[in-house]
Amino acid sequence: MKNLSIRFKITLWFTVALSVVVFFTCFVVLYADHQIIQKTIRDSLIETVENNVDEVEFYINFNHTDFKEIDEYIAFHNGYLEIDDDFLDQVNEVYTALYYEDGTLLYGENPISRNTSQLQFTDSSIQRITVKDTIFYIFDRKLTSEGLDGLWLRGVVSEYQGAVHMSSITRLALLFLPLLVLISSMGGYLLARRMLRPIQEISDSASKIRTGGDLKKRIEIGSGKDELHQLAESFNKMFQRLEEEFEAERQFTSDASHELRTPVSVILAQCEFSLEVQRSSEEYENALCTIQRQGRKMSRLINDMLDFTRLEMRAESYIKESILMTELVETICFDMALIQEKDITLDYEAESNVYFNGNRQLLSRMLTNLISNAYRYGKEHGHIFVRLICTEGTMELSVTDDGIGIDPGEQDKIFRRFYQADPSHSGVGTGLGLSMVYEITQFHHGKIHVESEPGTGSKFTFLADCRDEFSNTL
Ligand code: ADP
Repeated sequence: MKNLSIRFKITLWFTVALSVVVFFTCFVVLYADHQIIQKTIRDSLIETVENNVDEVEFYINFNHTDFKEIDEYIAFHNGYLEIDDDFLDQVNEVYTALYYEDGTLLYGENPISRNTSQLQFTDSSIQRITVKDTIFYIFDRKLTSEGLDGLWLRGVVSEYQGAVHMSSITRLALLFLPLLVLISSMGGYLLARRMLRPIQEISDSASKIRTGGDLKKRIEIGSGKDELHQLAESFNKMFQRLEEEFEAERQFTSDASHELRTPVSVILAQCEFSLEVQRSSEEYENALCTIQRQGRKMSRLINDMLDFTRLEMRAESYIKESILMTELVETICFDMALIQEKDITLDYEAESNVYFNGNRQLLSRMLTNLISNAYRYGKEHGHIFVRLICTEGTMELSVTDDGIGIDPGEQDKIFRRFYQADPSHSGVGTGLGLSMVYEITQFHHGKIHVESEPGTGSKFTFLADCRDEFSNTL
């Protein structure tokens, strides 16, 4: 059963359920029909006999003027019986006969008179006897009109008449109902096939993607809003997401190897240069310095890459808590002000008691990256200013410098991985600092934007909602 297709299973269940319903309906209908027919037969028997009661009359004198050829006249006691021509001795398979009390047939017909000769007359009640497997209903009426004492009318009808009617209904039912079940099952099968076609298409597309590895493929099942279309849409969104993720991953791997290739090539070239022939001690020193510089660059790159992938892969495992941002900003700025690179001074201003619901490690990393860049791209004797404020539930953390600035055309690209806007400084950084900042702002559902002018300086601002359940300004 498990190996059967859903389409087949649905059709099978549908057919079984329909057959059961049809069977019971048939049973109920035939039973009800049988009861009605039997009642109709009995009613017709009673009605015929009752009608015949008034058609028998007794006369003492035979009056020739009343004589009608179509009536029957039978000598009876000291007079005669007149059986009116309206007396129906055989109508609609109902037989009526006139009897003496001792069971002797006087007039009329009874197809089972031999079997009923011993049957006691019972006034106005129906009796049932079986003759050769056929049930007969018998209805007796005692005649009470003047002169008719000792006479009975007996009506007889067989159930066979109803059975004929029933068997034609049964024949029809036996012919048409299986046909109906068959047609409905075929209809059900076609409907199930039609309805489940999108699932087949989803399965086909998924296996094409699996075997061909083409994540650009999408499930196409036309327009619609039912569950299957929603399922296909969810799958398509998932494929879209996977495609983007794989593309990003591919790009990252390619960028990373590209970035690592340069320092590795330089190190290898320096090694070959030093080992080729005997070099002067100054040349050896220069080569070692270059190797050390490139080695450091590689180390920074690898560390940044590890941090970046850790952030991407374990974003959910970074716990958020209520952080006193004022303290975090002041501590970082105090420490980084000690760098005193290029004689740059770092000032800061943090509004007191600013709380934010976030991850301490990531927020520290974001601010450190922004301040590091401000030093890296700052001018000699320049200034860096860090500011933290909270206005109307929005926290604003900005890092401003008066450094080299960023070209307007580059400003939306600098958050990309490995992107470095200024080639003259490309040896210093790794191109991953701002993309990490961007990821951290995303993690905190915040925004980062940059205002910059080449030659004048840059301002990076992180904006985030500090009104949620943990964040507040006391
Ligand atoms: P990098 O390691 O090269 O600094 P980032 O991702 O931190 O990488 O920054 C990307 C690029 O954005 C840098 O290469 C630089 O050109 C530019 N940039 C970042 N911060 C500043 C800044 N404060 N002033 C000028 N340019 C900046």
